[in-house]
Amino acid sequence: MARVPRLRAVVTDLDNTLYPWVDYVVPSLEAMVDSLVATTALPRIRIVQALKAVYTTYESNEYPFAIQESALFAPYAADFDSFNELVIRPAARAFKAARERYLRPYPGVVETLDAIRTRGLKLVALTDAPRNAAELRLKWLGLDGHFDALYTLPGYPLPEHVDPRIRRREAEGHYRSRTPVVELPREAEKPSADGLRRVLADFGLGGGEVVYVGDNAQKDMPVAEACGALGVWAEYGTYVSAEYRERLAVISAAAVTRRHVAEEPGRRPARWPLAISSFRQVLDVLDGRRWARPPARRRRRRR
Ligand SMILES: [Mg+2]
Repeated sequence: MARVPRLRAVVTDLDNTLYPWVDYVVPSLEAMVDSLVATTALPRIRIVQALKAVYTTYESNEYPFAIQESALFAPYAADFDSFNELVIRPAARAFKAARERYLRPYPGVVETLDAIRTRGLKLVALTDAPRNAAELRLKWLGLDGHFDALYTLPGYPLPEHVDPRIRRREAEGHYRSRTPVVELPREAEKPSADGLRRVLADFGLGGGEVVYVGDNAQKDMPVAEACGALGVWAEYGTYVSAEYRERLAVISAAAVTRRHVAEEPGRRPARWPLAISSFRQVLDVLDGRRWARPPARRRRRRR
């Protein structure tokens, strides 16, 4: 019987692979916008467009200082203390309340991550999120400490005007994960395989010893293929309801939506032969119970 190569590590994407990003970001952003409408009485359309402009600059809908950096709110910033108390903090609280309610790992993720490490495999997260957002995400999801390392894109610095409590907590390391973090250069964004190559080098792994799990068949699976790793497509991560897709399009920067939500409705979706319908099935892959035979030519190249 053909044996599965001895696998020594699982490298996994985060967004839509370990947790449903859209399910959390849509209600959280909407709650924040509701708060800003209530506290400033500015038209919703102006608020949404002002925030989207900042999110586009930072390529993240979770950039936490979007309110104070947007031109729309600049007149309030002349007195930062009142702006902070009456506008920024209520908006941040609204976002946080929705986030705490809706940000959850997919079923079975925590147990599966534990089971992977119990088997003696290395476990690494590789994400296109900025460092700060990725670290906070791990903490909020209760997944910090489950990984041997977290590889991210570059983080962002604190802005000049910021709540002094935030500056103090940042200095105290409050926002940092326990998981060791490696910040990759911006050019390492997937489908570049530079991030996974760096993981292989840092952990002394061969591509054939690694399972790489990700939801985006066009961005994640080419990474696995380029390194000779076994690509496992988290197909469940691509299921986004039409309603959430529409609500996301209103409030999310288009570039960020493209990064997170793999396929547009109506386009033939990209697929990958080794697909799983739950993160739990990564264990089946490790056990050789779920296996898509790669084409012979490609298989030779992997050795
Ligand atoms: Mg993803």
